[in-house]
Amino acid sequence: MLSLKRNGKGEFVDAPGKRSRNIYSPNSEKPFKLSRGKFSDFLTCQRCFYLDRVKGLASPSMPGWSLNSLTDDLLKKEFDVCRETQTPHRIFDESGLTNIVPFNHPDIDKWRDSLHHGVQYPLPNSNILLTGGVDDVWIDLPTQKLIIVDYKSQANSQPLTPSYYLSNYYHEGYKKQIDFYVYLFQKNNFSVSSTAYFYVCNGIKDTDGFYGKMLFNEKLIPYKWDTSWIDTKLNEMLEVLNSENLPDSNQSCENCAYSVQRSQMES
Ligand code: SF4
Repeated sequence: MLSLKRNGKGEFVDAPGKRSRNIYSPNSEKPFKLSRGKFSDFLTCQRCFYLDRVKGLASPSMPGWSLNSLTDDLLKKEFDVCRETQTPHRIFDESGLTNIVPFNHPDIDKWRDSLHHGVQYPLPNSNILLTGGVDDVWIDLPTQKLIIVDYKSQANSQPLTPSYYLSNYYHEGYKKQIDFYVYLFQKNNFSVSSTAYFYVCNGIKDTDGFYGKMLFNEKLIPYKWDTSWIDTKLNEMLEVLNSENLPDSNQSCENCAYSVQRSQMES
């Protein structure tokens, strides 16, 4: 995908390909924020993660997912009404969930702000501050355990059942995303329910036309999270960050294959 750099006025400017800020240094006294998304990058390709976080290589910018963001924003509005009144959301009844309400905590807006705050946890023996912006948190009233929630929008023809949804290899990263949020909440001394939920909005294709609106089916997909793998991966990530060696690349990456082939063709 081509990406041309523009300034705030929309004019084309030179793309430097490198950042001068947000570069990891093990000796810095300032906390270095490392988001859930960057941890996910590490899990995908250690080499790109290293080039980005340690060397400051700037990735091409990506367009926003505005339709997906819109469903998130609208769901957030709905859940905030229920949070304010401490009443169950309509999907709870439809899904047979009882005694659950959206969690009304003073920090809920910070936790949901993935750009500036998120749920935070300082990684021991490092200057790294782990962060993760969660979509929503509910609470099971009898147990007072938190339920971690991630909203997802899609337009998929597969049946919207837990087994299809959770076994889809494209959703492996979604599960790791929830695992990581649970990990952060546990490190902040919250008791977390063993079941998290994906709130899936699936665009309905089988309609006569657009007519100015899209319809969605909605479904809660329960997910039994697993955080047992996270400490090991965080230790590996720290080793990579503190190393002077460039890690291996991911052999399945089409971007790397493209740049290797291209540099050979141009040489
Ligand atoms: S394989 Fe290459 S391009 Fe792909 S993510 Fe890794 S370093 Fe980046």
